Amino acid sequence: MAVDRLLPTEESVDLLALVRDLCEHELAPYAAQAEESETFPRDAFRTLGKAGLLGLPYPEQYGGAEQPYEVYLQMLEEIAAAWMSVGVGVSVHTMTSYAVATLGTEEQRARLLPDMVGGELLGAYALSEPQAGSDISGLTTKAVRDGDEYVLSGTKAWISHGSHADFYTTFARTSDDPKRGISAFHVPASSPGLSFGAPERKMGLTGSTTTLVNYDQVRVPRSNRIGDEGDGMRIALSALDSGRLGIAACATGLAQAALEVAASYALERQQFGHPIADFQGVQFLLADMAAAVESARSTYLQAARRRDLGRPFTQQAAIAKLVCTDAAMKVTTDAVQVLGGYGYTREFPAERYMREAKVTQIFEGTNQIQRLVISRDLLRSVS
Ligand SMILES: Cc1cc2nc3c(=O)[nH]c(=O)nc-3n(C[C@H](O)[C@H](O)[C@H](O)COP(=O)(O)OP(=O)(O)OC[C@H]3O[C@@H](n4cnc5c(N)ncnc54)[C@H](O)[C@@H]3O)c2cc1C
Repeated sequence: MAVDRLLPTEESVDLLALVRDLCEHELAPYAAQAEESETFPRDAFRTLGKAGLLGLPYPEQYGGAEQPYEVYLQMLEEIAAAWMSVGVGVSVHTMTSYAVATLGTEEQRARLLPDMVGGELLGAYALSEPQAGSDISGLTTKAVRDGDEYVLSGTKAWISHGSHADFYTTFARTSDDPKRGISAFHVPASSPGLSFGAPERKMGLTGSTTTLVNYDQVRVPRSNRIGDEGDGMRIALSALDSGRLGIAACATGLAQAALEVAASYALERQQFGHPIADFQGVQFLLADMAAAVESARSTYLQAARRRDLGRPFTQQAAIAKLVCTDAAMKVTTDAVQVLGGYGYTREFPAERYMREAKVTQIFEGTNQIQRLVISRDLLRSVS
């Protein structure tokens, strides 16, 4: 059952048709096998790049599709419904291009953006560290100025696309200043001194490789610093506002996929001489799942529309991340319930969806951190 989307332009309606066709033929058929064998879907990203889907919200001038967030997120939702690791990957990649697109110099945009948003290069976002997760002000990776270069040393943790990405948008300490001590850098994967840990052995999202990234005296030219020295925290937090909307859309797509599996199964599975969909207990479960998916979608769309209008959206992005990812956890768990014993097996995708949902409550700021963001913004606005 395709989602009946309200899209703002004919162009976005055509884009949806393209995305759906690609999801049906190029993504969905390969998802279960690649997740089972923990294979990184590099080819899927190439296919999306060629179709122009790795730079949807960025300017046409640099090879992007210049779509409003309202449209980009709905395309992302479709991709995540077909294959969550790829949806999350597109969201992460979009976030990696954010620093150059919004704060890069004209020279950096011309040099770096076309390959980033045109899909030639796949990005990774290197912010977290072993000792600095929720509290990124504790990060210790250093960038020391040496003539016309910076020398980066330290270790990043949990980096999605680690060892597969073509570049690492890296946040490193250029001074001990608690507020303005962090700067952002574009680090090509080919840089000498860059190495990777073994892939983390995860509960879900197993196609999306997650590794440590080690920087051993990695040299980057000064022209690869994005923004001024000390702008890093501001860049990281504003990239995360947009990134969280991406995760919200992916979580909604995952919940939608789980709802579809559960509803189809309920119509087919017979017990007591009836399809289980005839029982009100199951109908109400499905109704609650549908209500959760629809309200999740409305929440991220509301935040996206604020972003598209240039209004502040930090609080709404945090609300969307919280609401959509909690919905994904609940809906995927209920999908397993509707499928009964089969839901608990790998014959059906419901258990995989449930495992994939869990991480959406953790990355890009745990849902406890979203509550901090929401309450801080709320209390500031009433004081
Ligand atoms: C699969 C995966 C992919 C990831 N991809 C990336 C990536 O590409 N790039 C990147 O930079 N990072 C990435 N991350 C890291 C992710 O963003 C962090 O795991 C997350 O921010 C939480 O940090 P932590 O794991 O260190 O948990 P901690 O910060 O140690 O938190 C542990 C627990 O304490 C709670 N907590 C902490 N502080 C507070 C507080 N003040 N109030 C209330 N509760 C609190 C948290 O909510 C959590 O429940 C990824 C993580 C995973 C699992």
